[in-house]
Amino acid sequence: MSSPFRSRPAPQGTLRLFRFKGIDVFLHWSWAVVAVIDLQTRHNEYRSPIWNVAEYLSLFAIVLLHEFGHAFACRSTGGRADTILLWPLGGVAYVNPPFRPKAWLWGIAAGPLVNVALIPVTFAASWYFGVEHAVRPTDFQRFVSTVTFINLALLIFNMLPIYPLDGGQIVMSILWFFVPFERALSISAYVGMAGAAVGLAFAIHWGNYWMVAIALYAAWNCWRGIQLAESIRQMRRLNEPSYARRGL
Ligand SMILES: [Zn+2]
Repeated sequence: MSSPFRSRPAPQGTLRLFRFKGIDVFLHWSWAVVAVIDLQTRHNEYRSPIWNVAEYLSLFAIVLLHEFGHAFACRSTGGRADTILLWPLGGVAYVNPPFRPKAWLWGIAAGPLVNVALIPVTFAASWYFGVEHAVRPTDFQRFVSTVTFINLALLIFNMLPIYPLDGGQIVMSILWFFVPFERALSISAYVGMAGAAVGLAFAIHWGNYWMVAIALYAAWNCWRGIQLAESIRQMRRLNEPSYARRGL
């Protein structure tokens, strides 16, 4: 996911992991809590628990590569991107692209394109290590097959056309070619709100608390999108010409 609405997150509760090409990568404290819960609840998947750790780290490595895709694409259009935050619901690249639909579209599409690029890599690894035909797969073979699945699942989930997921933001950027920004944003955010409501209903029905958290987070993002669209609309009404230049 990428968040074009802020260029820098509050550093509270985060740990700076490293800096790459001028992009600071922060990790939120809650990541460690969820990692411990995840590792404790899934300890039967592998013979050796070290593979659970490797799997969890791989998930975040894939998410991190995806976020770097957003950040570098944003920079390639002349925008600013200097922060990536990793937290249990994934990653957020704080990007400030130029206020043009083409620049936004490329900045958003580049994230999922990283996952697309990883598909042949993970499938080649699965094939090379004979994952498919293993009768009694080793821990390593299970790990390779799970990472292949994780990358595909992340791609499919991110590409759902529901704002604020990447797929929904791609739809928004395409709409923006035809209608003003605030209209494209509010349409996408209302569709996203409906999607989040449906997701929340299913999540409660299935008792999946993880999905509840994701649906609420999505709904909150949609709410912010709707409010932003409304304030831009008001600025336009007041004939405030600098709303775009001032950034979001
Ligand atoms: Zn993304």
